[in-house]
Amino acid sequence: MRVILLLGTLIGATWGLETFAGDQVLRVEPCNEEQVQLLKRLRAQQPLQLNFWRFPSFPNEPADVQVPFANLQNVKVFLESHQIKYSIMIEDVQAAVDEERREMDLNQRRERGRNSFNYGAYHPLETIYQAMDDLVAEYPQLVSKQQIGESYEKRPLYVLKFSTGGKNRPAIWIDAGIHAREWVTQATALWTARKIASDYGYDPSLDSLLNTMDVFLLVVANPDGYVFSHTENRMWRKTRSKTPGSLCVGVDPNRNWDAGFGGPGASNDPCSDSYHGPSANSEVEVRSVVDFIKSHGNVKAFISIHSYSQLLMYPYGYTCTNIKDHAELDNVAKMAANALTSLYGTQYKVGPICSVIYQASGGSIDWSYDYGIKYSFAFELRDTGRHGFLLPASQIIPTAQETWLGLKSIFEHVRDHPY
Ligand SMILES: [Zn+2]
Repeated sequence: MRVILLLGTLIGATWGLETFAGDQVLRVEPCNEEQVQLLKRLRAQQPLQLNFWRFPSFPNEPADVQVPFANLQNVKVFLESHQIKYSIMIEDVQAAVDEERREMDLNQRRERGRNSFNYGAYHPLETIYQAMDDLVAEYPQLVSKQQIGESYEKRPLYVLKFSTGGKNRPAIWIDAGIHAREWVTQATALWTARKIASDYGYDPSLDSLLNTMDVFLLVVANPDGYVFSHTENRMWRKTRSKTPGSLCVGVDPNRNWDAGFGGPGASNDPCSDSYHGPSANSEVEVRSVVDFIKSHGNVKAFISIHSYSQLLMYPYGYTCTNIKDHAELDNVAKMAANALTSLYGTQYKVGPICSVIYQASGGSIDWSYDYGIKYSFAFELRDTGRHGFLLPASQIIPTAQETWLGLKSIFEHVRDHPY
């Protein structure tokens, strides 16, 4: 944990945002297994306070790492002395964060002036929740809101339900923002909600889906983390639950599901960004979704939306053995990725989590698949690292538009292949 954050906690809320002044994001390109191992050793050096934005553990796959200003020299010397290739992706993380904040404030003033909501901007939690209420009010025949639980800090977890009637129809589940800092995902989910509402009755593909199935959309799966990423630390990923016996806060909610829990690719260190938590489902944000899915009993597709890296993945993450539906899911994912690419040419990689990024246990779509929801997929949205988590707001709508084509392609397959 950064010293400044501890200070901030001691002094109180007035301390405000953690600063990343002078921090750089380096793109590191290990070219063989030995260099991958060296990177893993580097990552384990806690005093360096490295924040790996992504870490695919294969040679020739780049890793992106945020390095505190104070440790830049040491890290660069280490990389150079081992002939590990790197380049500077973001010169000054704080400058990029400031720019994003400036744009948000400007947009907020514009929205107030015009009394309208801009889907191409990032918003604080309460504005997102207000937009969800407005959508329900505008399309009451199609859209309703359901609270499925409460976060650790007692914020409501809201699901939007899109339904044209019928009792307990087969359903599609979508969640976004389980990792707080992946801001393009909550924004994409909200745009998608409006898209479903406004296109129903005009898009034959969507109409035929909603005539037989319901869609559930959890726009902000980790509201505590999301608020924290706005008010304290832009790079926050985890929940905000307290771990007894540790000063470090939060659990990685995508290592907390009951699927290979505690296995490879999750950390038992409460200070790690991939800490799996004391037990499976320890996080109320995870437990609430699990309870909802179980009590619904008729969910046929489960889709989790993350960023970044431009990937469309299916199980497993906790093991590198193929699922029995590998061929079908691979085919569905490829079709969806092609549909997505067709709009702006954005390239996606497709495959099981384990072979596309890394072995990671306790993930949501592994749980849903093992629970019996065959069509389980995870997206990693834009970009591939130029901006990473700080994707400019100007890319929200294009990202959401192309993702919509991918989602619809999956919907169509699910609709046409009941099981
Ligand atoms: Zn994520």
